[in-house]
Amino acid sequence: MVLSYKFRLFTTAAQEVALTGMLGAFCDLYNAALQQRIEAYRRRGISLRYGNQAAELKAVREADERLAGYSFSAEQQVLRRLEKTFAAFFGRVKRGDRPGFPRFRPKARFDSADFRVGDGLTLRKSQKLGIVGIPGEIKVKWHRPLPDGTKLGAAVVSRKAGKWFVCFQIELPDAEPVEREFSPVGIDVGLTSLVALSTGETVPTPQFTTRAAKALRRTQRTVARRHRNSRRQRKAKARVARLSAHVANQRRDFSHKLSRKLVDEHSHIAFEDLNIKGLAAGMLAKSVHNAAWNQLVQHVQYKAASAGTVVALVDPRGTSQTCPECGTIKPKTLAQRTHRCECGCVLDRDVAAARVVLLRAGFGPGHGLQAPSQRVAA
Ligand SMILES: [Zn+2]
Repeated sequence: MVLSYKFRLFTTAAQEVALTGMLGAFCDLYNAALQQRIEAYRRRGISLRYGNQAAELKAVREADERLAGYSFSAEQQVLRRLEKTFAAFFGRVKRGDRPGFPRFRPKARFDSADFRVGDGLTLRKSQKLGIVGIPGEIKVKWHRPLPDGTKLGAAVVSRKAGKWFVCFQIELPDAEPVEREFSPVGIDVGLTSLVALSTGETVPTPQFTTRAAKALRRTQRTVARRHRNSRRQRKAKARVARLSAHVANQRRDFSHKLSRKLVDEHSHIAFEDLNIKGLAAGMLAKSVHNAAWNQLVQHVQYKAASAGTVVALVDPRGTSQTCPECGTIKPKTLAQRTHRCECGCVLDRDVAAARVVLLRAGFGPGHGLQAPSQRVAA
């Protein structure tokens, strides 16, 4: 299991200038390598690969003293990133997606550099960070400790809304299976609430996201109103970036807490798998929650791995149209908030759906409800 640990960096003014310069140099390298690929193909019909370009890196550094001042392996990673971009491009071509050709990247949006810890980026005894080509040591805000006995592998230095971060990828051994009291739960993405649990509990969409989203929309309108590329528009754009980062932070924090609670309280957790291709159109109503939902599922999955909790993803089709008590299909419009069945089952619509999700996971004794073969609106 690989976890990422992200920390804020507190840079001096000189370090910030140097980091910006480093990303600029890496961006130039990326664009030059892309240019080289395009020309090799146009003039000689050759598709360059990572190996070809990496073999030239040494000579490139000798000729370019700016690149020579930064980490060699981080520059290799820049070329690897280009390789990945091309691989993704060709993958989509193969699937017949008509993707856009890999593009040149503007410096303003080249926001990260990949390192190997111990090579170009080191963790000093002072608990500060040393990066080749950056003066002094960079202060790190260790808001949580790194897990004991871990070997640090990859690290990504990134910039977001004017702040700098380092993100360590840490590989953890899978935990020993833990015996836990059987306490299963099914979880449904609610239409009005964020999630509904088969236990009857619903978790409302946190107020802060709706409030912050409002402020964000207001600022985005300001950006649209102001003159293109004006100083005032740039200022408004920076505010949008700050607000989005703030919303994302709050959402992540909330997701961490909710996933912690779910994993602590339940031995088996069933989610709807919203990544199934070709979901019915009605699922769109839920897709507004999609980003938050995917994050929650991910957070539960990695916390579950070390807590001995079993996680299952089930087919979401028709979960809100099925009676969890008797299994009959009860079509509902989106406006119908309550599930009522002739068998006497009356439940909140989302809670009923969460129960169906739980049954589909087949954790315990149940009705063994199958996904309906016919697609029905969720
Ligand atoms: Zn029923």
